[in-house]
Amino acid sequence: MEKITRQMEIPVKYECDVVVVGGGPAGFCAAVAASRNGARTVLVEKNGCCGGMATAGLVGPFMTSYSKSGDKMIIRGMYEEVIDRLVAQDGAIHPEYCRAGDQITGYHFRGHDHCGAFDPEVLKRVIDEMLTEANVKVLYHTNFVEPLVEDDCMKGVIIFSKSGMEAIKAKVVIDCSGDADVAYRAGVPCDLGDPERGSAMQPTTMFFRIANVDWEKVEEAFQKSKLENRVRPNGKPYGLFGWIIEEARAKGDFDVERETVGIYRGVKKDEWSVNISRILDINATDVEDLSKAEVVGRQQVLQIYNFLKNYIPGCENAKLMCSASHIGIRETRHIKGEATLNADNVLNGDIPEDVILLASNSIDVHASGGSSVTKYVCVENGEWYGVSYKSLVPVKINQLLVAGRSISATSEGAGAVRVMPPCMEMGHAAGVAAALSLKQACLVRDVDVKAVQEQMVKEGSFLG
Ligand SMILES: Cc1cc2nc3c(=O)[nH]c(=O)nc-3n(C[C@H](O)[C@H](O)[C@H](O)COP(=O)(O)OP(=O)(O)OC[C@H]3O[C@@H](n4cnc5c(N)ncnc54)[C@H](O)[C@@H]3O)c2cc1C
Repeated sequence: MEKITRQMEIPVKYECDVVVVGGGPAGFCAAVAASRNGARTVLVEKNGCCGGMATAGLVGPFMTSYSKSGDKMIIRGMYEEVIDRLVAQDGAIHPEYCRAGDQITGYHFRGHDHCGAFDPEVLKRVIDEMLTEANVKVLYHTNFVEPLVEDDCMKGVIIFSKSGMEAIKAKVVIDCSGDADVAYRAGVPCDLGDPERGSAMQPTTMFFRIANVDWEKVEEAFQKSKLENRVRPNGKPYGLFGWIIEEARAKGDFDVERETVGIYRGVKKDEWSVNISRILDINATDVEDLSKAEVVGRQQVLQIYNFLKNYIPGCENAKLMCSASHIGIRETRHIKGEATLNADNVLNGDIPEDVILLASNSIDVHASGGSSVTKYVCVENGEWYGVSYKSLVPVKINQLLVAGRSISATSEGAGAVRVMPPCMEMGHAAGVAAALSLKQACLVRDVDVKAVQEQMVKEGSFLG
């Protein structure tokens, strides 16, 4: 590729303590936590709202925040605060009331007890409120461009917006871009997807929402199908309405690589989220692939919408509300950190001493090649497993933390904690750690993790 060299002077827009890149579930929590703990904090977000996949991606419901048996809410802290604020504004149903096998959990049983339905519109406002109250400086429509690194130490970031190219100087940078954009560009070694499967990444999905669904009719069809107990020719049970997909496929009305109908009732009974689209072989760190995924995703939305109206009981009069303004990305880079969460840690229920998150979320890896190869495995030993603070600390570069789906984990390990409630608590931990390291006048990798844990517990987190 031809290259050009250009020198330019870049104005320093802010000098602050902590800059957070990305305002998704991990990022907005990191920014609020850092600011509440006394750090002057700037949040840089490329969209016009925070929430990432939860808002721009229309992803929902919140995956479970409970122990494996469903007896105890274990992901609390910042996630619970968000839920409580949403519930107060009629923007969510508390996960306590969303039970495995119900409409909100998409009629899933394993690993889906106590998911939480929420309204993405209300979530956008709730996040704005939390950031404003915490006095975070939020820069929307602003892209992270390059890290400022001196002697393997982060000094801030270069950003680009309508205002042009600018710099933010910061003592700690928290990368919550989902794709580890900052860490990668700063020189932290990263894996793309699963290196053992040729860097295969989970497929992308264009979520959309429909209204005017006759939920009672959907329920009736589901209950009838339970009695019929249909199985595939290979003896495996069909997932939700899988035989209807086969019928539509045979008639040429459905060609998406999905074998079950993924529909999830929202806060209002007639409003449902649709997680059926699937675009394979997309590397979402490549802008051409990303662009293709948006186009194919929107084409799939139309096909799936027509399929739902023509084939699925209760959806006959459904209306298309909106498709996501950002393609849904499940997996890209995983940083190399001081500890790496793997499948064994999840299945064994390992709890490291420097735990900053307890979760029971299953390893959920949608492999490329259709839903028949999706891997879904729950914690086997005990009720939950833990994530180490060291998984947020990249090797090589100082004064940088990474929170959210790109923490240091294998593809399978990340497949467990990539969902939104764990990402929020990882953000919470990163924000607290960044602020405390400044008070302790130490490198963020050397922060007293016990103090971070104590502060998180004071702020409502459950760490055992
Ligand atoms: C199809 C699909 C279905 C899913 N289903 C569920 C589910 O049912 N329940 C559940 O809980 N989770 C689900 N997930 C997982 C979950 O939505 C994500 O893994 C989670 O949102 C990750 O949070 P994050 O904060 O790490 O990243 P993201 O949500 O991706 O947020 C990253 C943020 O960073 C911003 N950003 C990125 N790059 C830059 C940059 N260079 N400059 C500035 N800003 C930047 C983005 O705009 C975004 O706001 C699903 C995901 C997908 C894709």
